[in-house]
Amino acid sequence: MEVLYKSTRSNSEPVKASEAILKGLAEDGGLFVPDHIPALDVSIEALSKMSYREVAYEVMKLYLTDFTEEELKNCIDRAYDAKFDTEVIAPLAYAGNAYYLELFHGATIAFKDMALSILPHLMTTSAKKNQVKNDIVILTATSGDTGKAALAGFADVDGTKIIVFYPKNGVSPVQEKQMVTQKGDNTHVIGIHGNFDDAQTGVKQLFGDKELAVEMDAKGYQFSSANSINIGRLVPQIVYYVYSYATLYAQGKLTEGQAMNVVVPTGNFGNILAAYYAKNMGIPVGKFICASNDNKVLFDFFATGTYDKNREFILTSSPSMDILISSNLERLIYKVAGEDSEKNAALMASLAKEGKYDVTPEMKEKMSDFIGGYATEEETFAKIKALYEDCGYVIDTHTAVAAAAYDKYVKETGDDTVTVIASTASPYKFARSVMNAIDSKYDSMSDFELIDELCKISNVAVPNAIEEIRTAPVLHKTECEKDEMKQAVKNFLNM
Ligand SMILES: *Cc1c(COP(=O)(O)O)cnc(C)c1O
Repeated sequence: MEVLYKSTRSNSEPVKASEAILKGLAEDGGLFVPDHIPALDVSIEALSKMSYREVAYEVMKLYLTDFTEEELKNCIDRAYDAKFDTEVIAPLAYAGNAYYLELFHGATIAFKDMALSILPHLMTTSAKKNQVKNDIVILTATSGDTGKAALAGFADVDGTKIIVFYPKNGVSPVQEKQMVTQKGDNTHVIGIHGNFDDAQTGVKQLFGDKELAVEMDAKGYQFSSANSINIGRLVPQIVYYVYSYATLYAQGKLTEGQAMNVVVPTGNFGNILAAYYAKNMGIPVGKFICASNDNKVLFDFFATGTYDKNREFILTSSPSMDILISSNLERLIYKVAGEDSEKNAALMASLAKEGKYDVTPEMKEKMSDFIGGYATEEETFAKIKALYEDCGYVIDTHTAVAAAAYDKYVKETGDDTVTVIASTASPYKFARSVMNAIDSKYDSMSDFELIDELCKISNVAVPNAIEEIRTAPVLHKTECEKDEMKQAVKNFLNM
């Protein structure tokens, strides 16, 4: 049955999957949601015998209903290949009291790779299907992780170019090195003299610049966005929840129909929303434990029914979760508002104007499967140390927020349901925080000395993504002022 995508903010005409992927955001500013969540049409038994790529096809075909089998399989094959350092793509590791679903085996060793390795192929396929003749120019402002994952995903993909703006003095040395060494003739990385907000504001202006759009069109280009509200990022993320359930079933850790809990270190709410979609497709998920760091807007929201971003923004050791507006939460709000776009739009207007909104008790009741959890910096570091000392397993800071929040949940509830914790980054990506958590003696070492120490204590080989940047030449040296971003784009496109 065909799935169409409608906006969360109005009753405008629904669009096909390929159109939703190309547009990113609906014209009214809302997010695209499927008009119904499709049910899995294969058994867990059958799924448990499939490879990651085969499971990906069984899940994604139900959402991307205007893609042919050949088109979709082609996208999947090109995404989940040797860029991943394991054939399993998303392995499960048992440590302590839970299974860690390792989502960091892709090109940039963070979970963004799970979706950003396939998005470029979904996008170019969508462009072809919609007779778009222009090359797609992806424009992104990044505070670190997303920029590199998008660069790696789009590098050398025919029919695309990618331009990434980052705050010149606002990302970590490793993150900067990862970006400025990016290969690919179609990639362009620019450090701006300003902060992340300047970069983000500049990108938004460029997206809204009608004059520029016309000039670009004449040269055969059009902008698109790879950010986490694109349905082309959400759908591939559902796959690994289905896959992990099937894997646990195959290993005899679960019987068919037995519930599994999931714990997700959350920022923009994309990853955990994918788990919610998996449940609605028929995967028996019990609780969704939504873990936050000190920026615990979501913890407060699930406890009280009030979403309030009016608070201090705290910089933590899990920077990808330092977020006060979780964009993808809008899709859940829309759903529990009874798919009432007017009601949802009013709440989002209140968020834009007052920085807060309240949901009704009925809406809150419909979200009772979600449990808010959080961990302080201290609790996060203590968890990294304890898990290493007890099991020899080293986790990154984001994953540790989830693991520490899960421990608190178990202590409070005694819930002993089989649990999967989404492990969203390799500890190598945040080696300094991780090693300091284990022992303060590492404090004085250089970044690469820490990498070598981490290798020794964890018995996990240094990933390629890290090895590469030790010696990789810097290929991108462009810098610009924050009001020169438009010219920088034109220069790169030879306009
Ligand atoms: C992006 C990211 C998150 C947050 O995921 P959301 O889908 O935005 O909730 C958590 N951990 C890491 C390492 C990330 O890169």
